[in-house]
Amino acid sequence: MNIRKLLVANRSEIAIRIFRSTHELGIRTVAIYSHEDRYALHRFKADEAYEIGQPGEPIQGYLDIEGIVALAKQHDIDAVHPGYGFLSENPQLAQACEDAGIVFVGPRVETLKQLGDKLSARKIAEKAGVPVLGGGGGVIKDAKQGKKLAKDVGYPIILKAAHGGGGRGMRVVRDPDEFETAYEQARRESLTAFGSPDIFVEKFIERARHIEVQLLGDKHGNLVHLFERDCSVQRRHQKVVEIAPAPNLDAGVRDALCEAAVAIGRQANYENAGTVEFLVDADTNQYYFIEVNPRIQVEHTVTEEVTGVDIVKSQILIAQGTPLDDPAISLANQESISTHGFAIQCRLTTEDPSNRFMPDYGRITHYRSASGMGIRLDAGSAFSGAVVYPFYDSLLVKLTAWARKFPDAARRVERCLQEFRIRGVKTNIPFLIKLIMHPTFMAGDCTTRFIDETPELFD
Ligand code: ADP
Repeated sequence: MNIRKLLVANRSEIAIRIFRSTHELGIRTVAIYSHEDRYALHRFKADEAYEIGQPGEPIQGYLDIEGIVALAKQHDIDAVHPGYGFLSENPQLAQACEDAGIVFVGPRVETLKQLGDKLSARKIAEKAGVPVLGGGGGVIKDAKQGKKLAKDVGYPIILKAAHGGGGRGMRVVRDPDEFETAYEQARRESLTAFGSPDIFVEKFIERARHIEVQLLGDKHGNLVHLFERDCSVQRRHQKVVEIAPAPNLDAGVRDALCEAAVAIGRQANYENAGTVEFLVDADTNQYYFIEVNPRIQVEHTVTEEVTGVDIVKSQILIAQGTPLDDPAISLANQESISTHGFAIQCRLTTEDPSNRFMPDYGRITHYRSASGMGIRLDAGSAFSGAVVYPFYDSLLVKLTAWARKFPDAARRVERCLQEFRIRGVKTNIPFLIKLIMHPTFMAGDCTTRFIDETPELFD
């Protein structure tokens, strides 16, 4: 079946990113936008655009499964791409699309159900013979039982929301006396953010690197990996800078991670694009599975830059049934995929680094972006005159730089950050410049604690 018209059930930069590949495939693009987003760029980048939701409710329309599917039916739309965030990992949207005869650009409903729960995802990893961290004995029943589990696992531990994401609902506990408070906080946060109070215990790794492997699987049993990304540079368990491939990663560890990711993909009978996330203990090189993200990720750009594979385009083709070895995707087998050079992505946000990263709002009075060799920008409404509202994510533009060598890619990022001129709203650019130029980053030696342990980044 050939898709003719595709709706992106999302907004801003990822909507525009998806329109680009969709257009290149000769498929008509459809945007949805809230009343508050009526001047947002993604609305104007699509061939057709429809307002959703009610004024004063900037988020609800993007989460309205029935509304989105009804709109798709009404306008003869035959595919829906959910992007990331919002409904991207919601099995109900995938099911509603299937019921309406609309292609859902993502994994099967069953896969979304299995992987949306971190505990059931851990089971799949274990079945595939991939190491997981100690703990994970199931949902904690009460503080007393949780405390016993934590003691068995051995402190430090991390409490995690079974249905969590985006770094929320997590608490590191180093001292048994702090267990109860941390458990209550994690439960409350998880219930508010994810509608579920389910928390589990996992061994905490003090000096960890976050390394993840990109997978692509088709509907015909072909499954490949597109190598790894290093997303160790994080603030509050959220990624800030991402790199492909991981600098200074032992070749044996790289091979093992890629193989483990494929084994998990096979175990889950994985279809479409997905990412298997691991933590690698920086002291021992031992690796552990943490979760699978069954969607396109913010940081997919760096993999695209080093492999030359358009992941979004592949997603759409896979969803319409095209096999990986078809000339349209041209990933005949694992051997046909290699990486070249290094790519680094920075997330430029409208957050004020001098004020605890408080989101800033208002009109962007001046906007001049960087350009030049080896640069890629993926932006939402980043232009002079655009208004940044408090309702949405503070991501303004993703800057990706490519170079043959890692330090050259880092210097290129710095050059571009210096080239940007953004006035009217505060951005995290000054912070990013210090981060990228820091000797630890330049040496490719960051662990997940780098930002927390480096106070000079905040001077
Ligand atoms: P989310 O789904 O919210 O992104 P993840 O399970 O992917 O949560 O974890 C996000 C980040 O939290 C990781 O990249 C890592 O920095 C930290 N983290 C999670 N689990 C552990 C652990 N067991 N030990 C050390 N750090 C962890």
